[in-house]
Amino acid sequence: MPRVKTCVKEDTGKVALVEHDLPDPGPGQALIRTTLTTICGSDIHICDDIPEVPLGMPMGHEGVGIVEAVGEGVERFSPGDKVVACCLMSCGSCDRCNDDQMGICETLGAPMNLVFGAQGEAFICSGADHSLARLPKGVDDRQAMFVADVLSTGFGAIERAELRAGQSVAIFAQGPVGLCATLGAKHYGAEPIIAVEGLPERREMAKRLGATHVVSPGNAQEEIMKITGGRGVDVAVECLGKQETFENCCKVTRLGGTVSSVGVYAGIPSLSLPTDGSFVHRKIVTTFCPAGARRLEYLLDLIETGKVDPTPMLTHDSTLANIVESYDQFRHRHDGVIKIAITM
Ligand SMILES: [Zn+2]
Ligand SMILES: [Zn+2]
Repeated sequence: MPRVKTCVKEDTGKVALVEHDLPDPGPGQALIRTTLTTICGSDIHICDDIPEVPLGMPMGHEGVGIVEAVGEGVERFSPGDKVVACCLMSCGSCDRCNDDQMGICETLGAPMNLVFGAQGEAFICSGADHSLARLPKGVDDRQAMFVADVLSTGFGAIERAELRAGQSVAIFAQGPVGLCATLGAKHYGAEPIIAVEGLPERREMAKRLGATHVVSPGNAQEEIMKITGGRGVDVAVECLGKQETFENCCKVTRLGGTVSSVGVYAGIPSLSLPTDGSFVHRKIVTTFCPAGARRLEYLLDLIETGKVDPTPMLTHDSTLANIVESYDQFRHRHDGVIKIAITM
């Protein structure tokens, strides 16, 4: 039973670094010694807006590390393997996992099949055979970390909309997930790719990662209609989790188009659908992070072969000892922060 330092939810809106005992890995589980982690927008929601996650809960679901021990029945991994864990864990054998919907694994209790504790010196991953992937030789920690959540979620937003090459897309908000949706839109051949963002450094990053146009939230609707010749986009992606952006997504989507929502609406109790006609004959899709070992391997391969490079988003470096300050920085978007690489 290793004793480790881990960032926990200390109070609503507050995290702290504490020492606690990790159990030995149970059946199907792996104990992973963390080498790199990061803070996610969802962590802020878990801390601030999701009381279902109790105080004292270990934080962090995006982790890269080395397998230290495995529980009974784990066959694909052994101590010493360098791995990345998918933020949503899968059993690999329930009806949903068998239906290639591993992000909503029934056995591991989706939506609570989230990894907890990756912001610690070590963490436990359940369903290890189906939720971990080895790092390919040409992929380092900083690249691999993106496949744990944000790259898969951002790509998932585009895939779930069934966007085809040559179709137009507008992506509302260019935080880490929005920027990964921009990367996904570029990878799948969208044109134009219109990013909606107000912060200067995120506007810059959107262009760098593939946006053909960047417009301001204040006049997004007008600008998007202008760029698309009054037609609207084929796909609009909501990455912020706000009523206003959801409505704007509906308004800029063409008849027959798709609104793809991946924003976390945890801060607001309900979402209303405009009845002004902007949702009629449009498709609305939502998704969690697409999960499973094969998903991780697919994305790692895109990185290894140079087709996708998310690493420009790692704007800052920190250490576990400074994680409370890093939360502060991330929460308030200080100093142009997008993603923070946190080593132990
Ligand atoms: Zn995340
Ligand atoms: Zn399952």
